[in-house]
Amino acid sequence: MVTALETLIEALKRLPGVGQKSAQRMAYHLLQHDRDGAARLSLALRAAAEQIGHCRRCHTFSETEICSICADVSRDPALLCVVESPADQAALERTNSYRGYYFVLLGRVSPLDGVGVAQIGAAELLLRAAETGVAEVILASSFTAEGEATAHVLSEALRSRGIRATRLARGVPVGSELEYVDLGTIAHALVDRR
Ligand SMILES: [Zn+2]
Repeated sequence: MVTALETLIEALKRLPGVGQKSAQRMAYHLLQHDRDGAARLSLALRAAAEQIGHCRRCHTFSETEICSICADVSRDPALLCVVESPADQAALERTNSYRGYYFVLLGRVSPLDGVGVAQIGAAELLLRAAETGVAEVILASSFTAEGEATAHVLSEALRSRGIRATRLARGVPVGSELEYVDLGTIAHALVDRR
């Protein structure tokens, strides 16, 4: 029989970067020192999993049908920035140097894993980018091989439809995920896009 403790450890192991040892440490810590914290964690996880969906317009995490950024009419409708994940979007927002709207992809193309443009929401992006008022689509996928491939495929598709596509400038280290790059570097890459 699988005990509640084993089930908890298995569940914690689903978190990125958490192996058997860390999962055990967390489980024992919560049970031994912080039962209250364990209860709060459980409630917060359930609420997040049940209440957080995706914005209908940009696909980022949102508890409402349209997220607060898409609903903000003071932003610049001429700019549409494409990122790989809600975490990357949050990183760009923290730079305070971008005032346009976003489109959040559902990952990045990875031919080896069978992930093509169809799986990352490219069709929806092309529709969104073709809306009146969009003058430039900034491709801010990561500087990993898959991120570069994603930017390449999307820029071809956008340009073939007569939509201007730019890429974040170099300066962001090769191989890096946007969410781990420092804010100043991202801000520069945004200004120097081409
Ligand atoms: Zn949105």
